[in-house]
Amino acid sequence: MSATTEQSRPADDRTERRVHCPADGRHVGSVPVQGPADVTTAARTLRAAQPAWEALGPRERSRHLRRWLDWLLDNEARIVGLVQAETGKSWSDSAVEMQVAIDVINYFTGNAERFLADRKVASAGLPNKVRKLTVVARPYQLVGLITPWNGPLGGPIMDVVGALVAGAAVLSKPSEVTPLTWSAVVDGWNEIGAPPVLACLTGDGEAGAAVVEEVDMVMFTGSVRTGRKIAARAGERLIPCSLELGGKDAMIVLADADIERAAGGAVWGGMMNGGQACISVERVYVEAPVHDEFVAKVVEKVRAIRQGMDEPGTYATEIGAMVTPAQLEIVERHVADAEAKGARVLVGGKRGAQGDAFFEPTVLVDVDHSMACMREETFGPTLPIMKVGDEYEALRLANDSDFGLSSSLWTRDRRKADRLSRLIEAGSVSINNAIIAVFQLPVPMGGWKQSGLGARFGGANGVLKYCRQQSIVSERIALKAEPNWYPVVRSRSEFMAKVVRFLGAHDWKRRLGR
Ligand code: NAD
Repeated sequence: MSATTEQSRPADDRTERRVHCPADGRHVGSVPVQGPADVTTAARTLRAAQPAWEALGPRERSRHLRRWLDWLLDNEARIVGLVQAETGKSWSDSAVEMQVAIDVINYFTGNAERFLADRKVASAGLPNKVRKLTVVARPYQLVGLITPWNGPLGGPIMDVVGALVAGAAVLSKPSEVTPLTWSAVVDGWNEIGAPPVLACLTGDGEAGAAVVEEVDMVMFTGSVRTGRKIAARAGERLIPCSLELGGKDAMIVLADADIERAAGGAVWGGMMNGGQACISVERVYVEAPVHDEFVAKVVEKVRAIRQGMDEPGTYATEIGAMVTPAQLEIVERHVADAEAKGARVLVGGKRGAQGDAFFEPTVLVDVDHSMACMREETFGPTLPIMKVGDEYEALRLANDSDFGLSSSLWTRDRRKADRLSRLIEAGSVSINNAIIAVFQLPVPMGGWKQSGLGARFGGANGVLKYCRQQSIVSERIALKAEPNWYPVVRSRSEFMAKVVRFLGAHDWKRRLGR
C-alpha cells in the first residue's frame, strides 16, 4: 500500500491511530484515539494539580521547565527522529524544531519572574492619592492547546511554555496526523517528575472540540476554518481564545535590493519545511527593472535544492515530503489552475521522482491575482513571482488578500523600508530577510485579518496572555467613613461637587462655576 493510501485512511479502528511516515509509508507508531470522556477526565486531574503549581511561583516553575529542556536535549536524536518519521521532512527541517524549543524555554524561563511581577501603579486624581494600586497576574486555571501537523514539536512548544510558566495547567491536543512527537515530549515531562499539570490527549477534531468545552482559555494554531469554529464556541462560553491561523505572506522586492540576497531569501522562505509553514513566502512581487535577474537567480537556486527524506543526522537534503496527501492535492490544484490561466512553470510543477508524497520545488511566473496560487494558502513548495510597475502596485497587491500574517520587504533604502513597512497590512514585516520576524520572541507574532486573533510571544505578553489581570486597591488611611457614604447630606454633597469641579476644570470660570 502506498504512503498516500495509508495516510488518507482513517484510524484503523476507533481506539487506535496508526501513524505512517508520509515519505515511505512505513508504520512509525500508534496512539490511542481519545474522545470527550478522556478529555473530561484529564481536565479534572489537571485542575486538581494546578493550585499547587501556581503556588510554586515563577522561579520554581521555571526550574521544572529547564529540567524538561535538559530532558529534550538528552533525547534530541529520538525526538527529532520522531518529527522526521511522522512528517517525512528533511533532517534539517526537523532539527529546527529543537532549536525553537531551546530558544522558547530559555527565553520565557529567563524572564518569567520579571514578566509576572506585581505591577505597582500610580493612582490617578487627587482624591485617589490615599489609595495604593497593584496589578497582579493570575493564571487561567486550565489552558487548552490545540495544534496542527506541520510542526509536531515546534508548534506546541511555542505556546506551552508561556502557559506553564504563567502557572496554568495545560490540556494539549496535537494533530491526529502527527501525534507521536508531542506524546513522547509530554511523557518526558512526567519522566522528570514535574507536577502533573500537562496532559497530551491524542484524538481528532472531536477531541479538540471537547478541549474547548473544558478549558478556561484556548490557544489554537491551525486552519481558518477550525479557528472560526473555536472562536464561535469560545464566544458562547465567554472564554478567551488566541488564534494563529493561515497565511499568504507577500514578499516585495524593490529595484534597489540586493538581488542575490533577496533571491536566496525567497527560496529559503518559500521552501523551508517544504513550504508547509504558516509564515512561508507564498507570493513575490518584484519591481520590473530587476524582475528578470531575480527570477533567473531564484530558478538557479531552486534547481539546486536536494529533495528527499535523508537519513537521520545526515543533513543531506534541503526539503522532504508533503505531510498529507490532501495538502499535496491543494498544491497540485494551485499549479494546474495557474497554468490554465496563463502562468509558466520554470522549474518543478509536479510530484517528485522520490515518490508520490513529494512535490517538486516549483517556480511560477506570469501569475496574477485571478489565480488561486496568489489568493489562497498553498502551504507547499511553490514560489509564484509577479512583475510590478512600482512600489505602490506592489503594496496594493500585497494588501489585496484575506490574510495578513507576516511579510517581507527588500530594499537598500532604510527610510523607504520604514515608510513602506507601515503601509503593509500584516502582523509583521521582515526587512531584507524572510520569516525571521517570527523567531523574535520579544515582539508579538500575530495575524491580521483572517490570519488570527491575538498574538503569540511579544515579551511579557507571551506569558500574560495566559493570565487574568487582578487589580488590588488598598486604602492607605482607613477613616471611619467616606464622604460619599450614606446618609446623603446636602451640604456635604454640594461641597464635594464644588471640590470635584474645582480640581477637574481647566479654566477659572469653570473652576468657580460662573
Ligand atoms: P486544522 O485546523 O485542520 O487542525 C488543527 C487542529 O485542530 C488539529 O489538532 C485538529 O484535530 C483540531 N481540530 C479540528 N477540528 C476541530 C474542532 N472543531 N474543534 C477543535 N479542534 C479541532 O489545521 P491543519 O490542517 O492541521 O494545519 C494547517 C493549518 O495550520 C494551515 O492553515 C496553517 O497556515 C496553519 N498554521 C498556522 C500557524 C500560525 O502560527 N499562524 C502555524 C502553523 C500552522
